[in-house]
Amino acid sequence: MSKELEALKIIKVHLRDVKMLNQAYKLVEQGLDRLEDLEKKEIPVKPTRFYYGEYARMFECPKCSEDDIIDGSNYCQHCGQKLNWGKEEELKGDD
Ligand SMILES: [Zn+2]
Repeated sequence: MSKELEALKIIKVHLRDVKMLNQAYKLVEQGLDRLEDLEKKEIPVKPTRFYYGEYARMFECPKCSEDDIIDGSNYCQHCGQKLNWGKEEELKGDD
């Protein structure tokens, strides 16, 4: 085997390693982003508005804007955002 061919084979092996490291880095980065999102959702946020539904008062999730959140729910059933109900008069209604 010529020295050039030998060198090219070594470079090829190293390039494969770099590619694998790059893929691993991307996976770790995605995992960290996901953890960060989950952590943010655990910080309770107050529902912003409510209206009177057919059977109960319904609220809007401040994170995903879905507006069928049932009064007193601990989490938004759509995006998983933790909810803080606080004092009733602090919630802005638009009925
Ligand atoms: Zn939501």
